[in-house]
Amino acid sequence: MIAKNISRITDKIEESARKAGRDAKTIQLVAVSKTKPVAAMLAAIGCGQNVFGENYIQEVLEKRPQLPAEAKIHFIGHLQSNKARFAADCCDMVETVDNLKLARKLNNHLIKAEKYLDILLQVNIGNDPNKSGVPAEETERLYQQIVEFSQLRIRGLMTIPPFENSPEQSRKYFAGLRKLSEQLTSKGLFPGIRPELSIGMSEDFAVAIEEGATIIRVGTALFGARQKR
Ligand SMILES: *Cc1c(COP(=O)(O)O)cnc(C)c1O
Repeated sequence: MIAKNISRITDKIEESARKAGRDAKTIQLVAVSKTKPVAAMLAAIGCGQNVFGENYIQEVLEKRPQLPAEAKIHFIGHLQSNKARFAADCCDMVETVDNLKLARKLNNHLIKAEKYLDILLQVNIGNDPNKSGVPAEETERLYQQIVEFSQLRIRGLMTIPPFENSPEQSRKYFAGLRKLSEQLTSKGLFPGIRPELSIGMSEDFAVAIEEGATIIRVGTALFGARQKR
């Protein structure tokens, strides 16, 4: 099932990229494996899918030792600063940095560990009171504070938009994050890189790719429906 799902998703990525006049190689699929067993992740790795998204630190700590070295984990859940050091140790990217305190905790731990960490700034692009993320208008300021931290590499922006009933309705949020990233780049932020845009999930990644996604986070379409935790 997983092999079939991956090939279907890969085809859809290529089709959406072609439509948008983009190179599919610039779009990274993050396989969101939260609540799913290690066996399912190993099956995905067997199909060449090495990058996973996880939401819960406890689960990362359990799974990481059972995965081969080539597996990479993006932390995509809400990260409490008291758990920052575990994310810094076990994850290859933290996509959900949205406050200075968390960034400082990550950095302090990374100094001791003599390591660097790729991060994304999570933006609450839809101003959804139920969602984490820095407000769009405060993103530049947070960037300027975090960019001072020696061990953190800010690679781009991520958002979880408000729930909508159709993918087309999410387009405005994806476009909003892209515009924010363009504005910040034109002000000299993200020097020398094309900032990542982590947008799009199972239901709406095709639209996200049309709006410039460089990272899509796909769970259900790849591993099947999740049980409630
Ligand atoms: C669970 C989750 C996903 C995956 O959602 P699906 O709809 O199952 O593809 C993507 N991003 C984040 C932040 C998530 O928590």
